[in-house]
Amino acid sequence: MNNKLIILVPCYNEEEIIDYSIQKLDSFLDSLIKDNLVDKTSKICFVNDGSKDKTKDIIESYCQKNDKIMLINLAGNFGQQNAILAGLNNLEADMIVTIDADLQDDYLTIREMVEKYHLGYEIIYGIRKERKTDSFFKRTSANLFYKFMNLIGIKIRKNHSEYRLMSKCAIEKLKEYKEKTIFLRGIVQKINLPSSEVYYSRKERVAGSTKYSVFKLFSLAWCAITSFSILPLRLITLTGVIMSGVSFIILLYALYSYIKHIAQPGWTSIIITIAFFFGITIMSIGIIGEYLGKILIEVKNRPLYQIKEIINDK
Ligand code: UDP
Ligand code: MG
Repeated sequence: MNNKLIILVPCYNEEEIIDYSIQKLDSFLDSLIKDNLVDKTSKICFVNDGSKDKTKDIIESYCQKNDKIMLINLAGNFGQQNAILAGLNNLEADMIVTIDADLQDDYLTIREMVEKYHLGYEIIYGIRKERKTDSFFKRTSANLFYKFMNLIGIKIRKNHSEYRLMSKCAIEKLKEYKEKTIFLRGIVQKINLPSSEVYYSRKERVAGSTKYSVFKLFSLAWCAITSFSILPLRLITLTGVIMSGVSFIILLYALYSYIKHIAQPGWTSIIITIAFFFGITIMSIGIIGEYLGKILIEVKNRPLYQIKEIINDK
């Protein structure tokens, strides 16, 4: 049977919850195997993303007694996206489901995903029905993010994070995207294969707290925008055109004042003008710098992660 499933779980400092997640996922995978939905060689693979707590030790202790549990131990903290990529690039399976370690995304819907896989879908997106369990900040910033992405013409599936099933074929297609600053859920949507969605209610974290600092959250959003759009660059051009128009009017006025002898020693207006244009110039240079930074990263072509060891591979 060609139905080997791997449930791929990135983990960063999850010691409070990892026991719970391993047990739940393990018995859930057993039920899928028992119902003949997936092959008995199916596994759960945890990617330890440089946790500073006992996460790795706990996973390892499960690996020793259960060869369904696998661990990819990264050499440092590379971020959730890269931890997931480390799994997708190095695992052999017919389908891989990625899910957060806190199981806030209802793992029971994996069953529905697998059923859809059997119907011939290659990518199945987990979509949360509502955002009740989010903080006000997260909800508002997420909504703003989707609105902004939509405004600049980037189509991105709403309320879908990294909870999805990808078939072997979809993963092969993903590997063809060689870029380094990757916004995973944006790239996956560019893969033209039959896809479907499953819906679930997102739960509260059972234990521990979010591993996404405000900084990490904004970096992700920024990565999404600059990876998928050159609109900020175009806006500079547009600003430049408008500013040239404004400058021309100011120039005409200055000439007029000179000819009519009404020119004042206008210190304030000069200072305001200079400050204003300096602001615009610096902002523009900043945005150009962002893209230059991206080019630099792509050119350097550094590895996204370094695997230290893989346990229970076969
Ligand atoms: N995570 C990771 N590396 C990081 C940050 C987070 O692997 O640098 C993992 C984390 O352990 C969890 C998932 O990414 O499995 C999502 O993180 P979290 O649940 O904290 O995000 P939230 O649900 O608050 O958005
Ligand atoms: Mg979470």
